[in-house]
Order: sequence, then C-alpha cells, then structure tokens
Amino acid sequence: MPQIIDGKVISAQIKDEVREKVSQLKAQGKSVCLAVIQVGNDPASSVYVGNKKKACAYVGIESLSYELAEETTQEELLSLIWELNEKKEVNGILVQLPLPGHIDENEVIRAIDPKKDVDGFHPQSVGALCIGQPGFVSCTPAGIIELLKRSGVEIAGKECVVIGRSNIVGKPMALLLLRENGTVTVAHSRTKNLKEVAKRADILVVAVGKPKMITRDYVKEGAVVIDVGIHRNENNKLCGDVDFEDVSPVCSAITPVPGGVGPMTIAMLMYNCANSVSLQ
Ligand code: NDP
Repeated sequence: MPQIIDGKVISAQIKDEVREKVSQLKAQGKSVCLAVIQVGNDPASSVYVGNKKKACAYVGIESLSYELAEETTQEELLSLIWELNEKKEVNGILVQLPLPGHIDENEVIRAIDPKKDVDGFHPQSVGALCIGQPGFVSCTPAGIIELLKRSGVEIAGKECVVIGRSNIVGKPMALLLLRENGTVTVAHSRTKNLKEVAKRADILVVAVGKPKMITRDYVKEGAVVIDVGIHRNENNKLCGDVDFEDVSPVCSAITPVPGGVGPMTIAMLMYNCANSVSLQ
C-alpha cells in the first residue's frame, strides 16, 4: 500500500506553528489582522469564508468580515479595498472568489496592495515568484510543497508533471516545483499523448478539474501523486481528479480527497497572514 499523505495532520502542524508565531508577534506588541470580503451569498463561498474565520480564531489572527450584497458595484468594492489598503491595522486582504459576473476579478485583484495580498494572486506576487523574489505565494500550491517536504518526498532532480495551468494552481505549482529544483512539465487540455507525458512523472500533481479522470494508465509505478481536485460524486461524496482506488496500488505515495490538499490551503493562508507582518 502507498504512503497516504495526510493533509489533516500536516495542516494542523502548520496552524500550530503559525499560532506560536502569532503569539510571539503579540508579545512584541504586533497583532495580525485579516480582512475577508465576500460579495453575494454563494453557499460554497460562505462555507469557505466561515472556515477561514475559524482558522483565524484558532491561530490568534483577528478577522474583519465584510459581507457585501450581490448587487455591490465594482466601484464600491474597489473603494473598500483602497480603504483597507490604507488601514495600518489590516495586514491581509482576501476577496473570496468567484465574484458576481458584473465585477472584473482581475481589476479587483490588482487593486489589493501587494504587501497585503495574502492569497498571492496579484500580478506582482506572481511575478516575484517567477523571478525568485520574496512575496506571497498562492496558498494551494504552497501547501502542496509543504505536504511533499513534510512527507519526506525529495523534489530536487525529480521529473515533476503538473496537469493543469490555471493561475491559482497549475502555473504557481510549476514555478514552485522549479524553485525546488524539480524538472517540470506542465500539461493542459491541448497536450498530446497526456498519458505518456504523465507517466514520465516521479511527482504527478493533478489539477485538472475532472472527477476521477486520472487512472493508473497515467501513473508510473512508484510515483508520488498529489490530487488537487475536489468534486462531489453522484452519492454526494467528495472525490478528486484522481481515481484513488485505481491509482493507489501503483504509486508510492498519494493524497486522499478529502483530507489531502484541501486542508492545506487555509493553513497556508494563515501562514501568509502571519508572514505579512514582516513584509510590511
Ligand atoms: P481550472 O478549471 O481553472 O483549470 C483546469 C486546468 O486543467 C486547465 O489548465 C485545463 O487546460 C486543464 N484541463 C482540463 N481538461 C483537461 C484534459 N482533459 N486534459 C488535460 N488538461 C485538462 O481549475 P483549477 O486549477 O482552478 O482547479 C483544478 C481543480 O482543483 C478543481 O477540481 C478545483 O475544484 C480544485 N481546487 C482545489 C483547491 C483546494 O484547496 N484543494 C483549490 C483550488 C482548486 P486549459 O488551460 O488548456 O483549458
């Protein structure tokens, strides 16, 4: 049986480390505060926002909550962000995505002060990651690097294949694996012979957004498989982009869904918030 990479345990360790750091900051008279903005009341977003507030409470980060109506205009949202950019006591600003269709997400992300961009989505944060300078890193891929390192998976020199090239997962994931000296291939919907490409991987990261698409035909014997996908199947149970039962017997380590990558995202958000104090 493969090693099951336990995101619940590792995310709990990270939250405890952040809690310790926040308490040291408090002892130096520095508090940490995250502003969370939600526009509309999409039920999934409300669950995510609720979990972020809970995590803040656990690690000792103050959270300010802005729940704006669905019909909020882009100008109103931008004004709130500019106001929060100016507030010294606010260290991090997070706008829960997706936003209603009448608001331009890119414009909103660009409005956030890069020093407060704890989601790591601002072009300046992404550019800094690309050229190896300090800045915030997108939470899900940053969490995957922690999962690998803390499970004893060596990245340097390994063939790493990332399936998916979104701005929030695939692209920053590839850059982070490169930073860790992996040899990185990024695959996407136009990749030819995906199975062969994926089978080259010692470390296969799947962020394709298609339930159970990745079967053992895509996986080299002994590979480490990281499943970023989250879906509900026909029985309302959570599943990933990887067919866990089919792939498990051939890989050396794998993340389950739930309990793998998912819990890491919020833990790394807390990590980014605590670190924002030293960037400011
Ligand atoms: P996107 O839909 O933005 O990106 C999917 C990527 O997969 C695209 O680059 C697309 O290629 C590629 N793709 C789609 N179909 C195929 C195919 N048949 N073969 C090869 N490549 C394909 O998704 P995200 O990156 O935002 O998310 C991916 C998954 O991760 C989703 O299930 C999402 O729910 C989950 N997720 C989980 C998080 C967590 O905390 N665990 C956080 C964020 C996301 P192309 O660019 O060519 O269209």
